[in-house]
Amino acid sequence: MKITKVEALHFRLPVVREIADGTQDCLLVQVHTDTGITGLGEIVSCSYVARAVIEAPRSAPFRHGLGKIVEGMSAGKIDLATQAMIDGSIWYGPGGVVRHAMSGIDMALWDIRGKISDQPVRNLLSQTAVDRVPCYASVLWPNRPEEIAVSAESFLEQGYKSVKYGWGPMGPDAALDESLVASAREALGTEIDLMVDAGRVWDVETAHSRIEQLKKYNLCWLEEPLNPYDIKGYKELSANSPIPIASGEMLTLQKDLKQLIIQGKVSVVQPDLGRIGGFSVAQEIGLLAQETGSWTVPHAFGTGVLLAASAQWAATRQKPLTEFTRASSPLAQELVLHDITFKDGMLTLSNAPGMGVTLNNHIAEKYRVS
Ligand SMILES: [Mg+2]
Repeated sequence: MKITKVEALHFRLPVVREIADGTQDCLLVQVHTDTGITGLGEIVSCSYVARAVIEAPRSAPFRHGLGKIVEGMSAGKIDLATQAMIDGSIWYGPGGVVRHAMSGIDMALWDIRGKISDQPVRNLLSQTAVDRVPCYASVLWPNRPEEIAVSAESFLEQGYKSVKYGWGPMGPDAALDESLVASAREALGTEIDLMVDAGRVWDVETAHSRIEQLKKYNLCWLEEPLNPYDIKGYKELSANSPIPIASGEMLTLQKDLKQLIIQGKVSVVQPDLGRIGGFSVAQEIGLLAQETGSWTVPHAFGTGVLLAASAQWAATRQKPLTEFTRASSPLAQELVLHDITFKDGMLTLSNAPGMGVTLNNHIAEKYRVS
């Protein structure tokens, strides 16, 4: 079975606001084969640049677009396609946006592999994959603490057991930060796991003092208190913090994630399958995390494709948990059709082959960037 085409599917809302919501524009890829079987993948990046990386025509050696590199290759030989993409883009890759773009192709090839073998991807990744994956609701902090109750009550009504608030106004004002966390804890009660995403706003010293302030709220984890590349800082925080420290969503290359796990010693590592190289790299990161005792919880703030990929991978982990974005963007909620069901804080995965995702054509047409 040969790859005949890699199609970049680019979507954008009519108005993109300056907020930390990556579901306002997005880039999917559809890999086509000569059998008619196709696979979908998601790229979490600057969508315009990543699109160019997929679509760029053949050039001199080592600088082709990724689509051209894998065209004609066997869809079943994912490792060969990966190596070809690394070699073929070596003048402008293989980190950053090239790795992000590779992630979408990897995901799509695993989707195809699942369809060929009539198995969900999780069963191809692990013999002990589960069908039900706990998930946490993930939203941005509102601007004022008194606005938290509305979303918190809605999460409780829907049966969530874990909730994460992040970004927004968090960072510069210690009193406001504590007030946000206190309001969330009060609104959710003591039984719910509460995670806080600081959004890379502090240095080590400030993070220490915030942790002192916030430790009484019994947080499940504190996410990205520091710049993601501050491995020394993560090492120091991880060694001393009573709140488990989480990070990793922004990292692209495997060597950086390895450093964060081995040297930074974070309690929770959050690879984004749409950035790191898809399922293939996630498998390797998962093995390493297992050896070191880090908990892997995929970062998944995108469309239904990334949701499905993350849930499939999380289903193979020792302690499954995945992010479930509650962003209201139609690209997050409606662009992709899938049969993952949510009830009482749990995603139930079907046995649909591959990732079980298809495009919702009506929404796709409405938001497609030509
Ligand atoms: Mg985050």
